[in-house]
Amino acid sequence: MQYDVLITNAKTRFSGGKTLQIALKDGKVAKIADKVEGAAAKTVDAGGHLVTESFVNGHLHLCKVYTLAMMDDAAIAAYTGESMGGAMTAIELAATVKEQYDEKWIIENVRKALDLAVKFGNTHIRAFADTDTKARLEGVKALLRAREEYKDRVTLQVVAFPQDGVVRDPGAEEYIEEALKLGADVVGGIPWIEYTDADAQEHIDRMFALAKKYNKDVSMLIDDAGDPTLKTLEMLAVTTIREGWEGRVTAQHSRAMALYPEPYYRKIEYLLKRANIGVVSDPQTGPLYARVKSLYKAGVRIALGQDDIADAYYPFGRNNMLEVAFLAAHLMWMTHRDEMEILYDLITTNAAEALNVSGHKLVEGGNADLVVLNANSVWEALWSHEAPLHVFKNGVEITAI
Ligand SMILES: [Zn+2]
Repeated sequence: MQYDVLITNAKTRFSGGKTLQIALKDGKVAKIADKVEGAAAKTVDAGGHLVTESFVNGHLHLCKVYTLAMMDDAAIAAYTGESMGGAMTAIELAATVKEQYDEKWIIENVRKALDLAVKFGNTHIRAFADTDTKARLEGVKALLRAREEYKDRVTLQVVAFPQDGVVRDPGAEEYIEEALKLGADVVGGIPWIEYTDADAQEHIDRMFALAKKYNKDVSMLIDDAGDPTLKTLEMLAVTTIREGWEGRVTAQHSRAMALYPEPYYRKIEYLLKRANIGVVSDPQTGPLYARVKSLYKAGVRIALGQDDIADAYYPFGRNNMLEVAFLAAHLMWMTHRDEMEILYDLITTNAAEALNVSGHKLVEGGNADLVVLNANSVWEALWSHEAPLHVFKNGVEITAI
C-alpha cells in the first residue's frame, strides 16, 4: 500500500469550501490533493466536514484534576474574588490537598482526564505537576507514568512545578532537580508568589540554573493576581535574554497584564518579542487575563490552555479545547468570524509554536496529528464544540477507552 490512511471529502480551513483528499503515511501528511492517486490501507470519509490539526493544550495542572471533590470552595472563592486580590491565599488554601498526595490515586484521575483529551482530539498537553515539599514527587511520578501509557495518543510535556515557591519553600528546588532526573521535560516556576522582588528574581535564577544544567525548556506561572505592580514577567523576559534561552520559555497566565498602564504594557510586549517568549492564557479560569488580542497582533507566540479540571481553582473543564475557545470568545469578545479563526490558531498551530511542538501543520510533510470535526467551518466548530468524529495521532486513528 502506498498510504496508511486516505481521508476523503475533507474541507480544510483554507480550501475555500472545496473538498480535498488527504493521504497519511508513516506519521506524516504525505499528500493533499483534489484526488490522491494510489491505494491506502484504510479510507476515512470526512463527509464534507472540516479537517484540521489536532488540538494543543498550553497549560493544565494535570496532577490536580478532580481534586475539588476532596475539598471545600474556599480556595476558589479566594482566587476569583475581589479582583483577584486573594490569589496568593488561594494557593495556600489549595495546598492542603497535597497532604494526601499519593501517586496511586493521582494516576486514576490523570487517566480520566487523558481519556477525555483523546475523545476531544487534544493530542498535546503541557502538563504541570506540583513538585514541592508537600507534593514531593507523587504528582510528577503519576504524570511520567501517564506520559508513557498515553504516548501513542497524547504527547505530555511534563513540567516539574514548584507551586508553593522556591525561596519560600526550602527543599522545593531539590525536588525539582529529582524530578528532572526522573525525566520531567520542562522546568516550572511561579516567581510572583515570593515575598519580595529580590526573592522572585532568585526563584527565576535558580530555576534557570536547573534548566541550563539539564538542557530543558522553562514554563512559569507569572503574575497571576490582580496587582499591576507585579514585575515577574519583565524579570522572566530579561533573564531569558541574559541566559540566551530565547525561544525556550513560556509565561503562563500573566493576568496582571490586564491592569498594566499602556506605556508599561508596550515595553513588556517588546521584551516578550525580543526574548521570543510564548504566552499561554486561560481566560475562563480567572476574572483577569493577558492581552491576548494585542499580543497576537504583535506576533508574540500565544496559546490558550485548559488550566484546571475540577480542582481548587476552577470547578469545570473537560480537556476540550473547542470549549475553552468558545468560552474565550465570550470573555474576550472575539465573536467576528475572523476573530474565531484567531481563536482556532490559539488552540492548534499557534499553540504548537508556543510549546515548541514542531511540524504541527496540515501541510504536506506536516505531522499526521489531525481531527475530522462534526462541523463544516471554524464558526460551527466553536459554536457546537463537539468531540471530533475522528482523531489521528502519528497517522493512526485513536479512540478513547
Ligand atoms: Zn494555572
